Formats: sequence, structure tokens, C-alpha cells
Amino acid sequence: MAKGLLLVLSGPSGVGKGTVCQHLLKMRPDLVISVSLTTRHPRPGEVDGCDYYFTTPEHFRKLIHEEAFLEWAKVHGEYYGTLKETTLEQLERGRDVLLEIDVQGALQVRRQVPDTVMIFMVPPSWEALVERICCRGTESEEQIRRRLAEAEKEIALYTEYDYLIVNDRLEETAGLINAVITAEKCRVKRGAAPPCWEAN
Ligand code: 5GP
Repeated sequence: MAKGLLLVLSGPSGVGKGTVCQHLLKMRPDLVISVSLTTRHPRPGEVDGCDYYFTTPEHFRKLIHEEAFLEWAKVHGEYYGTLKETTLEQLERGRDVLLEIDVQGALQVRRQVPDTVMIFMVPPSWEALVERICCRGTESEEQIRRRLAEAEKEIALYTEYDYLIVNDRLEETAGLINAVITAEKCRVKRGAAPPCWEAN
């Protein structure tokens, strides 16, 4: 069985990665959106095991020590990481897996799985990003300042990625990512081959 495709989606906090992923799932119900572990506190409405696995710094550090992560990073002062075994197992079973992670984590993933498809998402303008982060109403002023400063640094690293997508209209953005997945699956380098037929 062909191995699944590993995809990374990064972009500054507030760019709308989560919403785009939910939309993408409607177009590709068989896509696995990986659930990360984090030490940050849940936002209102977030569900443990669904949005994230929420855990303690002690438990997270124990897992780092046990080399349980495919990648991990400290983002906005909190730990975030992707479990190695779960992700690799899904790929082996032929499932396509999407990791919604930051740039530091994305670079670690590409080192370990070089044919990872790397997608970077940006907002249509800086003002749109500021508005989205502020409107969410879940961060303090200090957290907003920190996220914006980190967003600027993250956006500068878009050249590390294979695809750049501007998230202006949700449907279009999800459609573009869907198109990237379709195109990647047609690549000969990834093992796409003609069907077997009898030559006459
Ligand atoms: P948030 O706290 O807004 O959910 O996420 C903050 C940042 O952490 C986002 O840029 C998100 O992509 C990133 N992130 C979420 N999960 C992971 C992960 O497992 N690993 C890494 N490296 N970053 C993650």
C-alpha cells in the first residue's frame, strides 16, 4: 500500500489555519488533522483530545526525554508537539496527515521526513491579521503584542516552504490546499504510475 502524504501547514497565529483545516476536512474527509500536545490552557470552547491534548510542562518534558515527539517547539512561551508514533503509523496505513504547526516544528519535520509538503499561509494584509488576533478576544494585551512580534518573524521564513497561500476567502483557501494535495499525489516522484493494461 502506498504511504500517505505528510503535510505541514504553518502561518502566523490568527491567520485562520484552524478554520481552513475544518473546511478542508469537508472536502477531504479522509484527511487526518493531527492533534498536538500543548501546555497552554484551553481557550473557551476548546475540547481536550479534539483541539489539543492539554498537558502539564512536567509530562511534556518527560515525553521529550523519551523521544516521543516527531517535532516539538516552545511557541509564545508554551510547549507544543506532535507525537511521533501516532503520526508515522497513520502514514504507514496510507492516510494523509496534516500537521498545523509553527515554523520551528515544520523545519524539524522536514529534516526527518524530507518529502513533507510544506504550506505557508499568510493573511491578505497585516491589518487583517491584527484585527483577527484582537477580535478573538481570548488573549491579553501582552499576549497579543507577543503574537504579533512572533508573526512578523515567522512570515519572514516563508521561503522555507513549498507553497504560499493567501487566506483571503475561506472557501478559496481550502480549495487551494485541496488542489495542492491532489497535485502532489500525481507526482511521479511520489510513485504515481499508469494503471496496468495489456499492450496489444
Ligand atoms: P495556538 O495557541 O494559537 O493554538 O497555537 C499557537 C501556535 O502553535 C500556532 O502557530 C500553531 O500552528 C502552533 N502549534 C500548534 N500545535 C503545534 C505543534 O504540535 N508543534 C509546533 N511546533 N507548533 C504547534
